[in-house]
Amino acid sequence: MSSAYSLAAIGHIKTPFQEKFGIPRQSGLVDVAGVIEMLPGFDKPVMFEGLDAFSHIWVSFVFHQCLEQGWKERVRPPRLGGNQAMGVFATRSPFRPNHLGLSVVRLDRIETRAGRVRLHVLGADLLDGTPVVDIKPYLPYVDKVSDATGGFAPHPPETQLQVVFSERAEEQLLKLMPEQQLRTLIEQLVALDPRPAYRKGAEEDRVYGMRLAGCNVRWRVADAQAIVLGIEADDPAQ
Ligand code: SAH
Repeated sequence: MSSAYSLAAIGHIKTPFQEKFGIPRQSGLVDVAGVIEMLPGFDKPVMFEGLDAFSHIWVSFVFHQCLEQGWKERVRPPRLGGNQAMGVFATRSPFRPNHLGLSVVRLDRIETRAGRVRLHVLGADLLDGTPVVDIKPYLPYVDKVSDATGGFAPHPPETQLQVVFSERAEEQLLKLMPEQQLRTLIEQLVALDPRPAYRKGAEEDRVYGMRLAGCNVRWRVADAQAIVLGIEADDPAQ
């Protein structure tokens, strides 16, 4: 009997995250909007009958952007400052056999467009274009385990940085998106401090950048404060 199985994407998720750096390290930490676009064959409204009664769904996906890097027996979780190793199966690291990921997200609404289903979700920790391989409802009566313990990550990460926007960044934001969503998203993401642990407390003049929603967001950290320096659109004509 073979022990190899093949998987095919049933859809792809669209998120504002255009690179790995800056993506929250778990789902639900930031209220970011995403859309799971189902592929033909898996996009019929009948397949989703009943799902709209659930507030959250489990999304199984492939960490497709690290397939080439393979996997490691031991990894250094960012939660331990990146200087202590744990067994890969004690972590949520993307560098694992089969590169399968699992995230719980809020199901905002189910949309049918030209007969094809799209799931609007909130809180994904996934790169734009991540292949989705399964979707199932989150069942609170079994999935919410009241006496569970959290190993080396017993508490939510503390929001470490206070975020301020430079005048230039505020002006750019106003032009790009007068509504507050992009500003709020940048504020929440930068506050989570995506810098690798070994950088923290060092190199205060270093500028960090993240590609988000068609923009390049740049910021600097001094003490416990992050200053968003600029938000440049990739194509200002858009
Ligand atoms: N909640 C998930 C993911 C945890 S790791 C799980 O437990 O399986 C989350 C990190 O994976 C993100 O911060 C980002 O750096 C990385 N990531 C997200 N999408 C990815 C993708 N498609 N390929 C590779 N890495 C990805």
